[in-house]
Amino acid sequence: MKNLTLIIPCYNEEGNLHKLYDELNGFSRNSYEIVADDGGVSVNSCINMNEYGLEFLFVNDGSKDRTIDILNEIRQRDSRVSVVSLSRNFGKENAMLAGMDYARGDAAIIMDADLQDPIDVIPEMIYWWEKGYDDVYGKRLSRGEESRIRKVLSMSFYRMLNRMSDIDILPNVGDFRLLDRRAIRALTQMRETQRYMKGLYCWIGFNKKEVTFDRGSRENGRSNYKMSKLVNLAIEGITSYTTAPLRISTVAGIIVSLLAFAYLIFMFVKTLVFGEVVTGFPTLICVILFLGGMQLLALGIIGEYVGRIFNETKGRPPYIVDSYNGLDDGEDVG
Ligand code: UDP
Ligand code: MG
Repeated sequence: MKNLTLIIPCYNEEGNLHKLYDELNGFSRNSYEIVADDGGVSVNSCINMNEYGLEFLFVNDGSKDRTIDILNEIRQRDSRVSVVSLSRNFGKENAMLAGMDYARGDAAIIMDADLQDPIDVIPEMIYWWEKGYDDVYGKRLSRGEESRIRKVLSMSFYRMLNRMSDIDILPNVGDFRLLDRRAIRALTQMRETQRYMKGLYCWIGFNKKEVTFDRGSRENGRSNYKMSKLVNLAIEGITSYTTAPLRISTVAGIIVSLLAFAYLIFMFVKTLVFGEVVTGFPTLICVILFLGGMQLLALGIIGEYVGRIFNETKGRPPYIVDSYNGLDDGEDVG
């Protein structure tokens, strides 16, 4: 029997867990008819979840509400449920890594706790996994309830990111995916503390397959990624206390450069209209300010990387486990 682990990172999800568990429980006892599109040919198949050993691995990412109590209570009722609790909030990326470290299955499925990732897509993922794919990722056709600005910003962020790097990051593809043991092994080998999972999934390669779905809206509570948090995520924000001064020089550089540029245009137009007042002076100021700005910008960019090196050389573990309540050593899923 093949074993599957569902990795579910949870941060303040007390309102969603019971419902999620009920859905997972129902899911695990069902069998699903699948109509898959295999290169233009539609294939019918059936996935019976009873034929798989399941492990529901919840990662409590330092929740401040009753999440951990509810998880332990669910674990009491159902031994398929395992709970890893982190010592504080390490962020979803690191919580997922913890999940992958503790996952025992032959494949793992990562899904959100807020019921935004539809469970009934999972059988199709399993179908493709059985066909030999290592990374079956869910692609959102709709993004659920989200503000317009957020959609636009996130699309332009991906466009910018892809322009800057060789490895393309797929837009509208999130963490909802099935990963074969090989892919998990590859991902858990990368122990950097500042993780950007969407990049890592692409980086590891392997056989990838897309499965499309409609993303629902959050069931309960609110998104933990507020607008401000997303902006910070995008430019890696002034999150780290010690690298903040480096970031300031970047920002100052951009501002000074922009101001100098505006001044340059102003001087240019003024000279054209009124003629030159003091010879050479305006040009000089413009050049000095502009170059000064550019230098600050360059320094800032170098600073960003030095900051990252600084953080990684500390060699800290990406997360600390407070408790693990699940399978014993050597014990099998199922
Ligand atoms: N999450 C987490 N740690 C965090 C933030 C979020 O484990 O610091 C979990 C959260 O409980 C949920 C998933 O990551 O299961 C996605 O979070 P959220 O719904 O807030 O993100 P969105 O759906 O808005 O991308
Ligand atoms: Mg969500």
